Amino acid sequence: MSDAIGQELDGLVIGGGIAGLTAARLLAEQGYTVIVADEMCAGGRLINIGTMLDYPGLEAAVSGPELAARCTESALDAGVEMVPTRVTRLQRNNGWIAQTSETTLRARAVVLATGLGPDHTTLPSAASFAGRGVSHCAKLRWASVRGTVRRGAGSGHWLATEIQHLASVAESVTAVLPGEHPAGPQPVWAQAAGLANVHVVTHARVTALEEDSHGLLGTVVVEREGNGAMRLPVRGLFLSDDEVPCYPEGLPGATLDPAGSIRTRDGVSTELRGMFAAGDVRAGSVQYAISAAADGTRAALAAAAFISAL
Ligand SMILES: Cc1cc2nc3c(=O)[nH]c(=O)nc-3n(C[C@H](O)[C@H](O)[C@H](O)COP(=O)(O)OP(=O)(O)OC[C@H]3O[C@@H](n4cnc5c(N)ncnc54)[C@H](O)[C@@H]3O)c2cc1C
Repeated sequence: MSDAIGQELDGLVIGGGIAGLTAARLLAEQGYTVIVADEMCAGGRLINIGTMLDYPGLEAAVSGPELAARCTESALDAGVEMVPTRVTRLQRNNGWIAQTSETTLRARAVVLATGLGPDHTTLPSAASFAGRGVSHCAKLRWASVRGTVRRGAGSGHWLATEIQHLASVAESVTAVLPGEHPAGPQPVWAQAAGLANVHVVTHARVTALEEDSHGLLGTVVVEREGNGAMRLPVRGLFLSDDEVPCYPEGLPGATLDPAGSIRTRDGVSTELRGMFAAGDVRAGSVQYAISAAADGTRAALAAAAFISAL
């Protein structure tokens, strides 16, 4: 077991996506002891991205996993320790106490960089089809499917780019949208929606899933506003709009906005002493990797100022 686990750390970063890795690296470079706790592998969402778009300064065609590896490497080089664990509960007690599945971590300051995760309440049966045809990640899982349905708008820009990717590998793609079109850049959407093998069903939502004779996802039931239901045979369903902020238990309700995102005063400082938020989990995040990295920088600077004033 790591030496750092038993001691009070300067900083605990929860979530090892680009926001958390950036915050942790910068804190460690300033000489602070830092652990990044992540329940999955380091890199978070980047791990599922093919070619990174809209990330200035990268040479052409850098993939998400490549960028994740670079961020992880520079955090480790700076002295950050990575602990593969899920933080289940946070509690304030002079500093912060984080309960994880295996141990207890204590730190003067906490950076919450836990991103977004699936909302299992919008289509409860989706969870039981995980690995049997339902995915939150098109680029990794569906490289070989034929006929795919997606639902919802999600972060419109990424929905459009993911549809283009799916359309390049699938026989046909049906996009099911709750409104007329997703948010985000409309020319990118028009390009995706205009592809010959992409069909768009607007003002609709997926309400039920049915399995085929092999126990895999076989049919998706789509309810259209004022137009009744239709049943679509599919080979895979990619959920893109049912995402909610993730965070450990123990945060007072006032820390969260109505959507469950972490409220901040200046972009990264929460109303809880010594707690900072960065990346997709914070209220107002624009959900681009570059802005998550910028949040990580700001959170580290704010946390460093907080720790040095103690
Ligand atoms: C399909 C898709 C394509 C995209 N493509 C691009 C693109 O091309 N260019 C671009 O700029 N942006 C893109 N984005 C957006 C970008 O990926 C995200 O905005 C960014 O990666 C978010 O980083 P983050 O660090 O805030 O969160 P995440 O990367 O989600 O990291 C959060 C981490 O926290 C961990 N975690 C959560 N809860 C806990 C807990 N309780 N305990 C421990 N660990 C926990 C998770 O395991 C995860 O690793 C895309 C998004 C999607 C959905």
